[in-house]
Amino acid sequence: MFENLGNRLQDILEKLRRESKLTEAQVKAAMREIRMALLEADVNFGVARDFVARVSEKAVGAEVLGSLTAGQQVVKLVHDELIETLGGKAQQPTLKNEGNVIFMVGLQGAGKTTSTGKLAKFYKEKGRRVLLVAADTQRPAARDQLRVLGTQVGVPVLEVANGETPEQTRARVQEFQRGDFRDLIIVDTAGRLQIDEGLMDALSDLKTAMQPTETLLVVDAMTGQEALNVAKTFDERIGLSGLIITKMDGDARGGAALSARFVTGKPIYFAGTSEKLTGLEPFYPDRVAGRILGMGDVLGLIERAQQADLAQMEMKKAGEFDLEDLLTQLRQIRKMGPLGDLLKLIPGMSRALPEGFNVDEKQIQRIDALISSMTLKERRNPGILNASRRKRIAGGSGSTVQEVNKLIKMHEQMKGMMKMLQGMQGGLGGGKGGK
Ligand code: GDP
Repeated sequence: MFENLGNRLQDILEKLRRESKLTEAQVKAAMREIRMALLEADVNFGVARDFVARVSEKAVGAEVLGSLTAGQQVVKLVHDELIETLGGKAQQPTLKNEGNVIFMVGLQGAGKTTSTGKLAKFYKEKGRRVLLVAADTQRPAARDQLRVLGTQVGVPVLEVANGETPEQTRARVQEFQRGDFRDLIIVDTAGRLQIDEGLMDALSDLKTAMQPTETLLVVDAMTGQEALNVAKTFDERIGLSGLIITKMDGDARGGAALSARFVTGKPIYFAGTSEKLTGLEPFYPDRVAGRILGMGDVLGLIERAQQADLAQMEMKKAGEFDLEDLLTQLRQIRKMGPLGDLLKLIPGMSRALPEGFNVDEKQIQRIDALISSMTLKERRNPGILNASRRKRIAGGSGSTVQEVNKLIKMHEQMKGMMKMLQGMQGGLGGGKGGK
């Protein structure tokens, strides 16, 4: 997401950055281009208009023009304004010690059930005792889907029965609480393909019964401005406290995310970044702005590394590096997300990579499958992999003996490379400080 917008803005700003002094006319021309770029990215008209008005005003007012660093200062103004537009300081739902109820609402297909599961995981990892309530009686498979997610995350799921009244649901939750107290209840509610009165009434009744402390609307970034009209209606009828924007990993132009704060007046709490349970990130306006302008998101990168526990990745002596170590490391790195996405978090990289660049994830999955078909003894001692063992492994992983051979050769080359690197470090006085 944001790729086209990012490229456009970076081009416009690059031109400004190169100028030593700027005239008002130059700034004006650039602002017109920025406005066009925003509109083309499906940003709300009012948002685009105010955005350039504020940047222009500051550029002219702050005596930026004519100064030697004018170009750079305008870049900073645009960066700051992007952060403001996205909501300024990052905000998160307010949670008390107990008695927290998060009410999840949204149209069908927005990613409500998936996000409910992701939130359960997010908060469980923060030490919360979560109960999920599956109250989406509209979409046939929603309750099954939430039950499966609950099992994966390891939190209980209370399923609302067809025809159950909101009061009955509340009573069942209270009953559950008496046996197994939970400090955070997340309610997945029914969605519809479109807003209709019946849905709004039902949600409103359930909300009254459940007394949520936060009401989050799940918005699909792919549906653009229309999603924000929907958000306004939800806010008027149900009352919202914040937003979750899903499918930020898709190729949506980004306008919905950029306009959401302005149009709804509600903060974006989280962004959905994949279909997996791990694909939920607190929304940091400054980091997103940095990504759009190609300044990278080093903090995001570090956090993903911490999540994947890369610190656990032991550095082995080259001679001891076996196939089991290779498998562990590959899996830990893959936990951080698709490699192509990771590279883009590195400053400047999003522009350096060719369009549509992607690391071949399949290749990595093949290697995983091959090593997984070996016994632990074989992984620890690749030397014992004779012809019959290689044949068995090929069969077990649905590949060919040639592929097994290739993997073993690759591993040997890696070992050789590591030996060389470690030799160099040693020879140069050893360790990190050596130069
Ligand atoms: P609901 O009807 O709102 O409960 O929608 P679901 O939770 O079933 O999600 C609809 C589809 O969107 C599913 O295929 C999800 O896997 C997918 N989805 C949800 N969130 C994300 C996301 O952040 N990124 C991507 N790529 N897909 C998502």
